[in-house]
Amino acid sequence: MATCDVLVIGAGPGGGSAALHAARAGLSVMIVEADPGVGVPVHCGECLSHLAVENLGLEIPEEVIALDCKGIRVIFPDGTDKLLTEPGYVLEKHLFEKWLIDEATKAGAELFLNHRVKEMNRNFNSNNDFSNWTIDGVGNAFPIECKAVIDASGVSGAAAKILDMGTEVEVIAGFQYEMHEVDNDGYLDFYLWPEYSPHGYVWMIPKAGGRANVGLVTTEKKGAIRYLNKFIEDTYLRDKPTENPPWRKEGIKVRPFGGTIPISGPREITTGDGLILVGDAAGFTSPLFEGGSHLALWSGREAAMTITKAITEGDLSDKRLQSYAKAWKKRFPPYAKILKGKTALYRLTDKQLSNMAHCLPKELASMSPMDKVVIGFKILVRHPFLYLKGVISVLLSFGYSRAKHFGW
Ligand SMILES: Cc1cc2nc3c(=O)[nH]c(=O)nc-3n(C[C@H](O)[C@H](O)[C@H](O)COP(=O)(O)OP(=O)(O)OC[C@H]3O[C@@H](n4cnc5c(N)ncnc54)[C@H](O)[C@@H]3O)c2cc1C
Repeated sequence: MATCDVLVIGAGPGGGSAALHAARAGLSVMIVEADPGVGVPVHCGECLSHLAVENLGLEIPEEVIALDCKGIRVIFPDGTDKLLTEPGYVLEKHLFEKWLIDEATKAGAELFLNHRVKEMNRNFNSNNDFSNWTIDGVGNAFPIECKAVIDASGVSGAAAKILDMGTEVEVIAGFQYEMHEVDNDGYLDFYLWPEYSPHGYVWMIPKAGGRANVGLVTTEKKGAIRYLNKFIEDTYLRDKPTENPPWRKEGIKVRPFGGTIPISGPREITTGDGLILVGDAAGFTSPLFEGGSHLALWSGREAAMTITKAITEGDLSDKRLQSYAKAWKKRFPPYAKILKGKTALYRLTDKQLSNMAHCLPKELASMSPMDKVVIGFKILVRHPFLYLKGVISVLLSFGYSRAKHFGW
């Protein structure tokens, strides 16, 4: 039977980061990935802040960067726009994920493609304490015996499902087209425009050479593509060509790509005996704009560090691994506050959204406490009704969606 210290389920950003750091710490690591390749199909708008890259100490190569960008421009229904200037990258995400996994394998991790985990069984010693795992699934390397599992299986949440951990995750659908001949000034455009994406937003995420991801998230799962097509039809994007992204096989009809994103917040339980959940599998996404790569990379590294220490101490019990849950709770943004703001945001009409925007300064990323008091006063005088609609919590949730708070 194949054996290792740590089995990582999934080769996305969470799994790549976990495998890299566990292998660098000297553990034997196996990564099992259900898909035949790493990083494809892409299910991401592909943006990642400079801060995320710095936080993780990643030295990403040029070829994974599609654009070095200045930040995010938030556009309101009447065309008013505000800036969240925090630099970042638009990635070629499939190349980024492949690079990350290559770094992990260079550090000693082994990658097994076309390997889907289906069964997870804990083994116990004579004192009835957890000793290790036997993991089974589809793929030649199974069954695998390992001391610990890091579940980085994304929104599908393999471990939570297989082990019936009793926490459900709510999701939102996101889709995008690759469009061409789209100019950019270095900002990513996020449109808060309920007409085109109820309970969500539309994005234009540019890449060098006129390429751009144009997409949306909305709770209207069935109508998502229809809303996206309508947005393109009604805006300056109307006459721009839509192509398949380069990672898709040639000859396939042009169609959008995307997936689902957890939106109900971190799972209540993110550890178990010999087990840590990371990234989307743990429900870690920033709830307003749904960025999850930074959170996945950070939690993957934290999981690897926790398990490395726990193996050294010879204690992989849930109690020992709880230090991981403590760590992410301390670092990650206040989920409930962002969600409160998001709920209030989606209760505003187009007109109210624009009225709120008129009271904000052009640059939202560098507001002093005094600026915030002035804005509060302006809104109170000009649109007192907006106070009752919870507009202050909306503004707070913008603040907590910045890169600084793991927003992207
Ligand atoms: C449309 C869209 C746009 C987005 N835009 C952004 C953005 O611009 N910036 C950002 O930061 N975030 C964005 N996100 C969110 C981001 O993509 C995710 O948060 C991030 O990919 C999570 O990484 P992960 O490693 O946890 O999971 P994933 O990237 O989903 O990786 C999980 C991997 O596990 C594999 N797997 C699943 N089950 C099994 C199993 N049983 N056995 C073996 N392998 C398995 C899957 O095949 C997959 O490769 C977007 C998401 C969507 C859907």
